[in-house]
Amino acid sequence: MNPDFSIEFFPPQTPEGAEKLKAERALLARLNPDFFSVTYGAGGSTRERTFNVIREIAAEGHLAVPHLSCIGASRADIRVMLADFKTANIRRLVALRGDLSSGMADMGELRHANELVEFIRAETGDWFHIDVAAYPEWHPQAKSPVDDLQNFARKVKSGADGAITQYFYNADAYFRFVDEAQKLGVTIPVVPGIMPINNFSRLARFSDACGAEIPRWLRKKIESYGDDTASIRAYGIEVVSELCRRLLQSGAPGLHFYSMNQSALITQILARISGDRA
Ligand code: FAD
Repeated sequence: MNPDFSIEFFPPQTPEGAEKLKAERALLARLNPDFFSVTYGAGGSTRERTFNVIREIAAEGHLAVPHLSCIGASRADIRVMLADFKTANIRRLVALRGDLSSGMADMGELRHANELVEFIRAETGDWFHIDVAAYPEWHPQAKSPVDDLQNFARKVKSGADGAITQYFYNADAYFRFVDEAQKLGVTIPVVPGIMPINNFSRLARFSDACGAEIPRWLRKKIESYGDDTASIRAYGIEVVSELCRRLLQSGAPGLHFYSMNQSALITQILARISGDRA
């Protein structure tokens, strides 16, 4: 069986961004991904925009997978969204807790993603294929790695069909995470999330916040290129292609790309690893 291959977008804020995304998506569609997913701003901040992009993707004939986070939402809010997804014949989603953004005071009625998964199952049975998030380098708010792993296993047992990881550049962290999760009875596919390296300073800031490690060897090498963006890009493609190759050759069930709404790096990485995907 071919490994799963999926691509994530965020909902653009402007009409120009929406047009640009359409064009990038058309390029990425040529690579035949299994699905395109679209992120959801915690607290419902992108509710309409996320759904608009999902509708566009579905109308273009692709499997469209919305992300849905429960933080700041009531059960009634989520019930309405699930009904809207069903009406639009959406059959798969990524269920998340989300993060409190500044200005959000209310945590909402469901505290963690496991409660969201339980709620979706209770409300809609097996209608949705549900993916959840996994953190091979541990979630930044986790009390401990053991606690985080147990929380992950609990979330899976609430009814998840698959998991997608936070991005990482250390394949061993992923393999160790999968081994440890399997020892707790997790049998669903855990698909690695892959972040191509584009704007390195932004990536470094974001990685600090979300708890993804940029290894010293990688950071130092990229810093040594200074403002030479062409070299940074070429090196990033080489490193991420090598990571993808190693993951697939060692049994990862697929790859989920964080596209940042851009096609070029993913296209080049997939061209390099095409033999490993077949
Ligand atoms: P949870 O699984 O609820 O875990 C959050 C923390 O709580 C962890 O530290 C965990 O150990 C702990 N925990 C879990 N369950 C329990 C429990 N029952 N009791 C006590 N502690 C518990 N964010 C968005 O806002 N929108 C998106 O579209 C989005 N998409 C994402 C896609 C992927 C593939 C990934 C990996 C992340 C995504 N995120 C998104 C980020 C995510 O919302 C944050 O990482 C958030 O902080 C945690 O969400 P979660 O679903 O993993 O939460």
